[in-house]
Amino acid sequence: MREETEVLIVGLGPVGAALGVYLGRMGVSAIAIERDSEVYPMPRAAHLDHETMRLLHLAGGAEAVAGASQPLSAYEFRNAAGELLMGFSPKGELAPTGWPWTSMFHQPTLEHALRARLATLPSVSVRLGQALKTWRAEGEGVVAEVETPEGVKEISARFLVGCDGGNSTVRRGAGITFDDMGFDEPWLVIDTVLAGGVTRISTVGLQYCDPARPVTSMPMAPGRHRFEFMLLPHERPEDVVSDEAIAAMIAPYHDPAQFGIERRAVYRFHALIAKEWRKGPVILAGDAAHQMPPFLGQGLCSGTRDAANLAWKIEAVLRGRAGDALLDAYQAEREPHVRMITGMAVALGRIVCTQDVEAACARDKDMLAAPEDKRMNEMIALEGLKSGVLPGGGMVAPDARFMRARLDDAAGFAPILVVREESEASRGFAASGGFAVSLSALGSGAAFFKEMMGGAPALLVRPDRYVFGAGETAALLAAWKAYLAGGGVAANIAAA
Ligand SMILES: Cc1cc2nc3c(=O)[nH]c(=O)nc-3n(C[C@H](O)[C@H](O)[C@H](O)COP(=O)(O)OP(=O)(O)OC[C@H]3O[C@@H](n4cnc5c(N)ncnc54)[C@H](O)[C@@H]3O)c2cc1C
Repeated sequence: MREETEVLIVGLGPVGAALGVYLGRMGVSAIAIERDSEVYPMPRAAHLDHETMRLLHLAGGAEAVAGASQPLSAYEFRNAAGELLMGFSPKGELAPTGWPWTSMFHQPTLEHALRARLATLPSVSVRLGQALKTWRAEGEGVVAEVETPEGVKEISARFLVGCDGGNSTVRRGAGITFDDMGFDEPWLVIDTVLAGGVTRISTVGLQYCDPARPVTSMPMAPGRHRFEFMLLPHERPEDVVSDEAIAAMIAPYHDPAQFGIERRAVYRFHALIAKEWRKGPVILAGDAAHQMPPFLGQGLCSGTRDAANLAWKIEAVLRGRAGDALLDAYQAEREPHVRMITGMAVALGRIVCTQDVEAACARDKDMLAAPEDKRMNEMIALEGLKSGVLPGGGMVAPDARFMRARLDDAAGFAPILVVREESEASRGFAASGGFAVSLSALGSGAAFFKEMMGGAPALLVRPDRYVFGAGETAALLAAWKAYLAGGGVAANIAAA
């Protein structure tokens, strides 16, 4: 017998799980299938930025992460002589989102927390040990063939979302190819547990830009540390994975006896972006849609942003509050952001991965020409959204205190309207599922909102926490409605 659901999520890595929670919070019926029967026990991502922690809080995963993570005091790039080429350090402990600028975390802890939250949502059914075999378009949706322990079963869904990682069956089935941004470097990744109950050997993440062997040394969750060693042109993976080879590579930096090796794996760091993120009812998210080198620690962060961008669009289309074109806005909004971040990660990667000695000397001379205090910068700030927002919008909204809780908790996964004064329009917005709040009811964080509002009477924050825009309340809500209907953005409301 064929099962039916509104959304079939393929792959329950962190991105599929976050998407499942967002959909479940909005009451969308979803089935999430995952090939493996357990959470993958080893970390891949080590860093989460504050924006992602905030989105994971909305997905029920941030508290567990926060309880078992540590911030970086700085992220530094040093040359073979140990001189600082460039560095980044956070300003203050918490970002305006209310979360640490950086969280060095343990990925399996996050994934367990997301799955626990998923299990509380009645409209989402999780199926472990089940793999997507193939799918075909039928009517407005798709019919998927799923390999289960009881044999192949069919599931029909209005939308099929491939969160099935870099080798995505969904992407390949849709015939979607990648745009290659020209980065392909082999690195050995070593995850270690610190010996003797030591929680950290440093709070600084380091890139050793040594042309003889580029090396990354990165704190992870307390008690864990990661090293990454670039393979040299003549090296094969089997040459570098033995205990002896690893100890020899760690020795110039630390006593290898301090580290118990938990995992060793050779990865090729890529910069790939899918040419299409949506084909009708089939949509890609996370690594299925894009992969980037880890020099900014942004792969999972970007996948989480995908899930947060996509979930409310799917819900709005399913419930008839938005036109189908809103789903085309998903790629239009997310791809430039991912491209910008991937470009930055590639640029950092090129600095680190230089193996040509002369080129490394020239790089060092150039970067060391600036005084040392000028080489240390504030933590890299990511740009906001360039489309799907009104002129002046697009930045990530702050969090605030509301009735002794986080505004994010009070609003849930709804759009937020911040107004100077309540009006019929703001009450109507609240009555139709939005969250309306007056500026005076916001505690800490109100100042940030006030600044963003300028002199405007209202400001609208999208469910994914990007500011949609500011303006006169009724005009702002009309622009939001037009955006939902058409997927684009209505004319500048200031001129309306
Ligand atoms: C060395 C390294 C370091 C990194 N560091 C960072 C970092 O610090 N910060 C950061 O943000 N990102 C980092 N990343 C990237 C990050 O790990 C990934 O972007 C993220 O894990 C992708 O999540 P995902 O859910 O999209 O895919 P995945 O985690 O790959 O999950 C895909 C899931 O789909 C399942 N699946 C596949 N095919 C099928 C099928 N046919 N049917 C059913 N299920 C299927 C798989 O079993 C898997 O569970 C790093 C990556 C690497 C390799």
